[in-house]
Amino acid sequence: MIVERVSVAGVEVATGHFIDGVRVQSATTFEDRSPLDWDLKLADVARGGEAEAHAAVSAALEAFPAWAALSTVERQGYLHRLADLIDSNVERIAAVECLDMAMLEESLRLRVIGRGARNFRAYADLAVAYEARQWDSNGTHNTVLRMPAGPSAVITPWNAPFMLSTWKCAPALAAGNTVILKPAEWSPLSCSFLMDLVDDAAFPRGVFNMVQGIGSEVGAALVADPRVRRISFTGSPATGRAIGVAAAKNLVPFTAELGGKGPFMVFSDADLDAAAEKAALMYDDAGQVCLAGTRLLVESSCRDAFVERFTETAGRHILGDSRDPTTTMSPLIHPQHLERVEGFVNRAVSEGDRLVFGGHRLAANGLWFEPTLIEPRSNDSEIVQNEVFGPVLTLQAFETEDEAIRLANSTPYGLSAIVYTSDQAKADRVASAVRAGTVWVNCFLVRDLTAPFGGTGVSGIGREGGDYALDFYSDLKTYQVKEGTTHG
Ligand code: NAD
Repeated sequence: MIVERVSVAGVEVATGHFIDGVRVQSATTFEDRSPLDWDLKLADVARGGEAEAHAAVSAALEAFPAWAALSTVERQGYLHRLADLIDSNVERIAAVECLDMAMLEESLRLRVIGRGARNFRAYADLAVAYEARQWDSNGTHNTVLRMPAGPSAVITPWNAPFMLSTWKCAPALAAGNTVILKPAEWSPLSCSFLMDLVDDAAFPRGVFNMVQGIGSEVGAALVADPRVRRISFTGSPATGRAIGVAAAKNLVPFTAELGGKGPFMVFSDADLDAAAEKAALMYDDAGQVCLAGTRLLVESSCRDAFVERFTETAGRHILGDSRDPTTTMSPLIHPQHLERVEGFVNRAVSEGDRLVFGGHRLAANGLWFEPTLIEPRSNDSEIVQNEVFGPVLTLQAFETEDEAIRLANSTPYGLSAIVYTSDQAKADRVASAVRAGTVWVNCFLVRDLTAPFGGTGVSGIGREGGDYALDFYSDLKTYQVKEGTTHG
């Protein structure tokens, strides 16, 4: 028997897809469990396939001309209404996502879910504020216009599912596209709740759709559909490659925000207390943060002083239930992921890397893994070169600025870098030499929604954020009128 709605943390959440303005079920379902208590089944969620992907794209295609024809101000009205609804439901969304994904509830409530509302407001306002570039040349008046591109597929990962999904759907909708969102199967519920708010905000049918299911099934069907005109993906490099192949077959522009293995560089002139405090935050969300600086690169002359401070700050982490405000570290998302993280650590130790602290799961029946620090025997160690996506950092010392930059740039990734120094000239040199989409100096995770965001190398293709996202979700058109040939 298919259950249409379940109660999660006291909040009613639909288990179906949201296609053409209505909830739709599938013949089969997949189980969604809570990382806080793996014995707790939260829902049997609709398991879409080709038919559901096809229906969602058909709805998005049907709704596209009317949505695209609205002015940016008219679309702004819908997006602001949705943002207001998110704001008035923050506590409920946070409670659902906490149970579903295990991110700390307080952080979801105070910080993360509200970002979802801000995403819708910010992109709606940016689209309205667009000033077309205009100039005269070669006897013509030139204008750059944005044309909505068409139905857009948005495929998102299980970490921070609500915030990351809104971050992509908001610009797509503001630019005049219709959307099919496919959330990750390990944390599908907060995005399902979002669709109830889309309904409450009275979006026209088919403008904002969502399909649930397994990536290789409904996700693959979605990105293979030639009627989809934009694909925006956040997830692992392996899936990014598969989606890139699908996008290439249909000549569809796509952006891919992929994994990270960011350097956290500490120079001896830095405020070591501040650096150690920030470095300990890399264990937040059990290290399941793509932007985290997971490779600690520390100048030799301050290595011991930094490690002493860092060991102390990292040791203050409290592993526990993410609903408890005293907890600072959540469990990992899934038993398979716990095994993957543990596998990385065990291989590192057995191959000769040195375990400085941590390295073990907390209890046999839970998904918590200790904050872990590993000193690799070489920069080629697997643990240095690959994204673990767990609470595992590596520690390497460097002698010179050049060596620090060489180490920072020595993995295939290039998403983010964190630099701690009090020397502005050094900060400028290092920031310009490091290969990364974002470089933070003496700070971390500070984001301006108008700034470009993305990665280089295997960390991704393309940039979203601000006007970069609105340009991505548009086909740019150059409009030229021969001077002196028209009037009025
Ligand atoms: P994943 O690649 O396994 O899955 C991501 C999404 O893709 C899911 O919704 C999944 O169902 C879907 N998918 C899987 N196979 C597919 C296919 N063949 N076709 C279409 N869709 C498919 O990633 P994950 O494990 O959910 O997320 C963790 C990864 O995401 C990490 O590598 C992390 O660094 C990365 N990430 C990157 C950013 C960023 O902004 N760069 C942000 C968050 C997470």
